[in-house]
Amino acid sequence: MEMDTLERQIIFKLKSRFFDIIDTENGFFHYEKLLDEMLSAIKALTGAAEVILYGCNEWKQEFFIEAATKSDFQLSTLPPSISCTGLKGWIRENRQIRSRAGETQSEELMLPLIKGEQLLGCMFLIGGMDSFNTLPEKILQELSGECGQFLEKAQGLAKIVSEEKRYKQLYRVTEKFHSSMDMDMVLGEIIYTLQEVYPTFTYYLLLSQDNKNHGDLPIRDLEYDSENIAAMQAYVTGAVQFEDSVLEKRSVLYAPLKGKQGVYGVLQVIAPNTLMFPKNEVEFITLLARTAGSALENAQLYQQSKRLIADLQLINETSHRLNSNLRLTEMMMFMSEQILQSFDAEEAGFILLSADGLHTNIMNGSTDFFHTKDASLYIRYIQKKIMKERESLFIGDFSLQNQKKVFRFKSIMAVPMTQSGELKGFALVMHRSPYHFSFETFKLLQSLIHHSTLAFTNSMLREELEKMVVTDHLTKLYSRSYLDERIHLSMNEDIEGSFILIDIDDFKTINDTYGHQVGDEVIIQVADVINGNIRATDIGARWGGEELAVYLPGVSLAGGKVIAERLVNRVFECSNPQVTISCGVSYWNRGRKDTYPALFKRADRALYSAKQSGKNKVVLESGENFFI
Ligand code: GH3
Ligand code: MG
Ligand code: MG
Repeated sequence: MEMDTLERQIIFKLKSRFFDIIDTENGFFHYEKLLDEMLSAIKALTGAAEVILYGCNEWKQEFFIEAATKSDFQLSTLPPSISCTGLKGWIRENRQIRSRAGETQSEELMLPLIKGEQLLGCMFLIGGMDSFNTLPEKILQELSGECGQFLEKAQGLAKIVSEEKRYKQLYRVTEKFHSSMDMDMVLGEIIYTLQEVYPTFTYYLLLSQDNKNHGDLPIRDLEYDSENIAAMQAYVTGAVQFEDSVLEKRSVLYAPLKGKQGVYGVLQVIAPNTLMFPKNEVEFITLLARTAGSALENAQLYQQSKRLIADLQLINETSHRLNSNLRLTEMMMFMSEQILQSFDAEEAGFILLSADGLHTNIMNGSTDFFHTKDASLYIRYIQKKIMKERESLFIGDFSLQNQKKVFRFKSIMAVPMTQSGELKGFALVMHRSPYHFSFETFKLLQSLIHHSTLAFTNSMLREELEKMVVTDHLTKLYSRSYLDERIHLSMNEDIEGSFILIDIDDFKTINDTYGHQVGDEVIIQVADVINGNIRATDIGARWGGEELAVYLPGVSLAGGKVIAERLVNRVFECSNPQVTISCGVSYWNRGRKDTYPALFKRADRALYSAKQSGKNKVVLESGENFFI
């Protein structure tokens, strides 16, 4: 009875001490301090020289020193390292053990700390010989129980605190994720957080796509091969997978980086020295991976939308420019510049197809390469394909199409230019490296060409129309207004020039004899003679009716005479029904003050003089003999 009371007093003392320890924490929690307090309480109660607390490592299933009273007592032998499982079996039978280390005259007492079925740790009391003799068995049992309970409480509190810390970390990470749309930052943050929580592990991010340019991040491709079955499993099922390798002495955990719309990769956690991943750690890693998954998804969607916006801007800007009345050449130059820049292409060309699709015409503004002989190789191939299939072409490696030849350009994109269902030509964009263009780029090129073909064709039509205005419909000679414009220009820029005014002789008779239709044909014949006998820089024009004119920039009066005489002779020889022409030739040069009306007037006078003096001839007017 007396013993009982003493026991109760001791236990009561211990309990109240424990209560004080917990109570004085005042909301501040230091697990280590708590354990120290517990051990010094035990030490005081039992009179032990040293008390050591071994904790049970749940990961390694091993004991480790968790706390010890600091005393100058010399430890004779280190407590034997006992594996948890070994101890568990032993505990069921003997809750305590007394051992005697002979030579050093010390005694060790081991108290298992148990809560229910779970072994939490074990406490070693060390003292001199017979120091624990006075402690009855029952007290030891009570001590073991009380300390077990206390340790469990402390561990529970520690867990709450550490979990709180984890979730604070998770919260911080999540917050960062949501404040950033930068994929690399998200990935970096995952790794950083994990390294902070579990510094001894190795981490890899296995990503399913686009794994370039991530700097120092431990990123690997998620490859579908036999070595990575568990990783693939995690990716496909979206569930955490484990892989233990006894041989390599490591355990691997694969957590999917999962978002709402899909799985973006797998987080690989490699723990050295095979160990079990405790449940709550798995939960934490899974949660982190899931948070990262949705952050990645957001970042990807954001980058996608940013790219779409950039694409739209490009299309918008281009359409805008194309509709701002550029000349066709300027327009095509602008287009190829845009393509080279935005798509990182090396060559951009625009090839027009004739109505039958057999002939090609390289548009001005295409890069220089398209005007070389080598380009025809590509153009012919694409032309054939597009004529046949009427669809865009996306070729990653052109050399695969024909292995006998060497091709400079491997990446090729071609988009037909169609207007109102009619194939007008195609755009051809190339780069030397194979698989250089992404599919997105290809899509963008398509939409760019679709949006601009209307502008091209409009511009082409406009320029054709302008040409029509400057050319005479019947004779295909230039119009009088164009002739006027060119003579003005020449009189400003050149040093001299000759002007020939031509009138068909007795044309009324032709009309009267053969009818107007034949009359028209005769005018065309004369025009053809003119076109066939002047250079491209000369201007043959229809002055009006059956009167024609030729302006020869930079040509002397003598030169003008030769040409006029040639025309007179040729018309005489070639026309059918035969006609003749009369020419009046006038001339100007820099040395003399002159005007276009005066130049014309002089030619007209010369022509009149030719008519008066028998027709079918050339009369010159030098300017000196005549008044202006
Ligand atoms: P001359 O040798 O003096 O020039 O005699 P001509 O008969 O040619 O007289 P003139 O140049 O004065 O008359 C031109 C005639 O040509 C008048 C008109 O009926 C006819 N003519 C003018 N333009 C055309 C045309 O586009 N087609 C046809 N078929 N006849 C035209
Ligand atoms: Mg006339
Ligand atoms: Mg006439």
